[in-house]
Amino acid sequence: MKNTELSAAFLTSQKAKKPFVLSGVPVAGHLFKLLAPWVSRVEERRGFPPCLAVLSVGTHAPSQIYIARKKAMAERLGMHCRILTFQKESSCKKILEAIEALNQDTQVDGLILQLPVPDSWPVDRLLEAITPEKDVDGLHPLNRGRLFSSVGTEGFVPCTPWGCIALLKAYDISLRGKHVVVVGRSSLVGRPLAAYALRHDATVTIAHSQTPELAAVTKTADILCVATGKRGLITPAHVAAHHIVLDVGIHRGEDNTLAGDVCCEKVLPRVCALSPVPGGIGPLTVMGLMANTLKAAARACSLPQSLPF
Ligand code: NDP
Repeated sequence: MKNTELSAAFLTSQKAKKPFVLSGVPVAGHLFKLLAPWVSRVEERRGFPPCLAVLSVGTHAPSQIYIARKKAMAERLGMHCRILTFQKESSCKKILEAIEALNQDTQVDGLILQLPVPDSWPVDRLLEAITPEKDVDGLHPLNRGRLFSSVGTEGFVPCTPWGCIALLKAYDISLRGKHVVVVGRSSLVGRPLAAYALRHDATVTIAHSQTPELAAVTKTADILCVATGKRGLITPAHVAAHHIVLDVGIHRGEDNTLAGDVCCEKVLPRVCALSPVPGGIGPLTVMGLMANTLKAAARACSLPQSLPF
């Protein structure tokens, strides 16, 4: 998934010892070009394109934006996307029945539950009801286990960790033998990102809210990935000149501007490279979902499973 132009630009900035912005936008464009022909191949093979189904509960405003982006990207790629919306007062039985129907529906390849769901909903029970073969968010316990396993095939990798590694690959930044420090241990981002980095032969440390002296840990990193949901947590005190920093956090300010978990303006001049917010990991999370849906569709119609992304 290396992109020659992007990796050359990164190399040039390294030689010049200039801080480099690891933009996710051109990487998303690069991935789009890789994915699109496989959408056509699936459609040629079985007569209909890959299809993603999104289950949404309630009216969480940011979720509506994310769902619209997923649908728009799926359709740009030529895939189908079905959105099923449930009232937050709906019964759990009703949504479980919908999941079962979509599990059985041969026209649907990927099925996700848009998170978060309202607090009263049994999120684990819903995620476990999605068949692992269609679990393109990689959140079913079987797919989580596969990611952490050292043997056997990889299931579906959760989309944000997939996006983080896709960004590094596009700029030809190898993880092999590197010390990756992941700050955050959520099931959605931190843990699967650590496992996926391990699969890429990194040495991995996970830090979290109970880690004492966070800066002492982050400074030992080669690649620092931050997913804490704490705006501006990472400052110049946490970084070193050789660091590659991936900022996963997303915070929407009152004026609607976006910021990350890293104090971007202060940190960028102090490191080798940094993925910004917005325009860093966000666009690649969506591409991760597209890649997983395509992988599910390719499996469903027996196209080669080792797709080039
Ligand atoms: P969670 O709240 O589920 O997890 C946050 C993690 O950060 C926890 O493990 C917590 O530790 C840790 N943490 C909190 N405070 C600190 C601290 N002071 N020092 C060290 N670790 C700390 O969040 P998510 O993982 O779901 O999301 C993290 C961020 O990423 C959010 O801003 C979210 O919006 C963003 N996000 C972005 C995506 C994208 O596409 N770019 C996709 C998904 C999320 P502990 O476990 O001890 O509580």
